[in-house]
Amino acid sequence: MTESYVLIHYGEVGLKGQNRPMFINALVRNIEQRLHGLDVHLDHKRSGRLVFRMGPRARWDDIVARLRTVFGIAYFARAWRVPLDMTALEEAVLSHLPKREGVTFAVRARRARKDFPLDSMEINRRLGAVVARHTGWKVNLGNPDVPIHVEVLYREIFFYFDKVPGPGGLPVGISGTVINLLSGGIDSPVAAWRMLKRGCEVINVHFHGQPLVSQASEIKAIELTRVLTEWGGSPRLYSVPIGRVQAEIMKTTPPAYRVVLYRRLMLRVAQEIARREGALALVTGESVGQVASQTLHNLYVINQVAEMPVLRPLIGMDKEEIIAQAERIGTLELSNLPGEDCCTLFTPKHPVTKARLEDVLEIEAQQPWQAWVQQALGGAKVVDVHTSPVDALQYWPERVERLLQVHG
Ligand code: ATP
Ligand code: MG
Repeated sequence: MTESYVLIHYGEVGLKGQNRPMFINALVRNIEQRLHGLDVHLDHKRSGRLVFRMGPRARWDDIVARLRTVFGIAYFARAWRVPLDMTALEEAVLSHLPKREGVTFAVRARRARKDFPLDSMEINRRLGAVVARHTGWKVNLGNPDVPIHVEVLYREIFFYFDKVPGPGGLPVGISGTVINLLSGGIDSPVAAWRMLKRGCEVINVHFHGQPLVSQASEIKAIELTRVLTEWGGSPRLYSVPIGRVQAEIMKTTPPAYRVVLYRRLMLRVAQEIARREGALALVTGESVGQVASQTLHNLYVINQVAEMPVLRPLIGMDKEEIIAQAERIGTLELSNLPGEDCCTLFTPKHPVTKARLEDVLEIEAQQPWQAWVQQALGGAKVVDVHTSPVDALQYWPERVERLLQVHG
């Protein structure tokens, strides 16, 4: 039996000059981290592909589950290697063909090494004839049951059958760091995921209302962050208490303006955390018009406190699209768990939908904003979601038990 390999193709669009080695090194690092413990080892990274060797303990299903979440991978396959020799290729392909009856097939060869004695068409024809004779299978070039991919590289030939699609995007870490404002809701984990897909390192910040409300929203934030680590998200979560400050705001400001004021407070605090972390942007799950606090007028007023870009990757999405994406990412079920957000307690019945910047500035001029920001920062703790002792089971026993089975 020939040794098995994992052959990984990455998207090459826009990969030029110095970006290329950086992209590839980050991708290799992320893949190695994700495959840790599965007995899979980097063999080489030549010819625009990554090749990993599967050790005796490696299990293909486990590898598929992990690689599906590594951004930067276009597709991957379980592959076998033979020397640069047609007869060796034919024999190995025959001995590895999937055992299926009455199927169609097609050979799809390509060459990185152009001085191989046969060109791609000739490889297709010759290997195709051997397979047809041996199996009785028919050729179907358009939509074969068994595609046989052959890649002639500089030192060897790889062949494989089924391609598994990767998630695309860019390797996490190559685009710099952002701070994502993570509530317990549906939208903000999706926003984080979209930034991960664009290669950003994403650190989450969650604001909670303890001790005035339960720990539920914080636990949701921890569990959501844990799911996002499967996509390359940072395991560190900033958990920031703002309940007392919100209570102060409630005592001293007109109800209609509170949500806008809370949001401006959150941005100010998140900005300080961004500076500490060397992050260059904030991220939120806002989408125009979704709720009262997210009218264009209010976004304008909220955004005025920002001294760095506030990225809103969901800004033009409908709720249905966001929910469908949350489901695919694996965060929807957690987001749907009941849990008091810090804002629910303090949300007025009729928030303004057209806040005016002059009014907000006038209200804020009477408040000790700097002290409040410092107070919130002073109470912030950094949770490592892999080692955090919080136990979601005590809150939502059956549902969380099932989730933990899915996500380990
Ligand atoms: P989500 O599903 O993300 O909670 P939402 O539709 O409920 O979104 P809002 O509650 O208005 O929207 O919040 C808008 C955005 O503000 C959120 O997507 C999130 O980025 C940020 N945000 C809101 N509450 C919090 C919080 N408690 N901690 C951190 N960020 C928050
Ligand atoms: Mg919310």
